Amino acid sequence: MVEDEPQLARQLAAALNDAGYAVDTAADGTRADFLVHTERYDAIVLDLGLPGRDGLKWLEDWRTQGIAVPVLVLTARSSWHEKVLGIDRGADDYVAKPFRIEEVLARLRGLIRRASGQATPELKCGAVNLDPRSSRVTLEGTPIRLTGHEFRVLSYLMHHRGRIVSQLELTEHIYSRGSDRESNTVEVFVARLRRKLGAATIETVRGLGYRMGDAP
Ligand code: CA
Repeated sequence: MVEDEPQLARQLAAALNDAGYAVDTAADGTRADFLVHTERYDAIVLDLGLPGRDGLKWLEDWRTQGIAVPVLVLTARSSWHEKVLGIDRGADDYVAKPFRIEEVLARLRGLIRRASGQATPELKCGAVNLDPRSSRVTLEGTPIRLTGHEFRVLSYLMHHRGRIVSQLELTEHIYSRGSDRESNTVEVFVARLRRKLGAATIETVRGLGYRMGDAP
């Protein structure tokens, strides 16, 4: 999340965190550029009015460099011209300021869903349902309580249904920067998810990682 206004940045980060995302924040383009080249993100929320270099210029650079991560642009500019320019420079969607946090969250869910090739808002795998809109998980219709990390592991595997996901990839996507990341903790979260959702829910593919659902 790239936003230079401290109060808005804090609000957005808290809301994204509450919605189950691992969030890294940057207050300027230089920091964002470093993070974008160091970490693997599922989506970027990018404010256009940044100190120094404009958000659009950074975005254009990233696209030229082959960085394809979905980008939701925040713009104070409500003119159609600026919106067209944003989309043309590589934004996937935009929200005009002032906005409701709910709209940012909804657009972000849509971007992440489409980027992972999911057609429906609710994710389903066998008897397990995950609704990113409410961060709720059910097993055969019964609500299951998960911790934040358990939810992130499950959500990532369900967004990438049928694909083998390595421990490293999971680790990179469930932790924010600076948090303690020991790769063996993924094993612990998977073990807890299996206890809560059934042993067969998550398959271990020996030497490669984990998979939910059938291989495509
Ligand atoms: Ca700004």
